[in-house]
Amino acid sequence: MIGGCRCGNISVELTLTQAPEAYTARRCLCSFCTERAVLYVSDPNGLYQITIADDAVVERKRFGTQTADFMVCGKCDGFIGAVCDTPTGRRAVVNLKCLSEGNTLTTKIQDFDYDAETVEQRLARRGRNWTPVAVTIKG
Ligand SMILES: [Zn+2]
Repeated sequence: MIGGCRCGNISVELTLTQAPEAYTARRCLCSFCTERAVLYVSDPNGLYQITIADDAVVERKRFGTQTADFMVCGKCDGFIGAVCDTPTGRRAVVNLKCLSEGNTLTTKIQDFDYDAETVEQRLARRGRNWTPVAVTIKG
């Protein structure tokens, strides 16, 4: 499934291992995600490929525990997901709103709040659940 930010500076391709209706989209209730109506999806056996044309205008925002980079295009404000170094390698959670067919992944939607987790628990959970990621920077 392909997608990216609106201006094309960041393009993405998400490889999933199950049928779209098998996924549960997750809605975070923080102000950043609420303002953007973000819905997250991940597949620990899939792959998220991120290709950046001009990295100088890509913002990597950090919140809360400062453990993940929320990648936002500085040209068009498109948000493509968050990347984190976990105990099982670099992984990402995908904003399905940036995918051309992302609306096929919203059969089930669940709110989440992980505020009670320790940093260690959070990194371990992401290591189990988030999607392996490959980032390619062209310029
Ligand atoms: Zn953009």
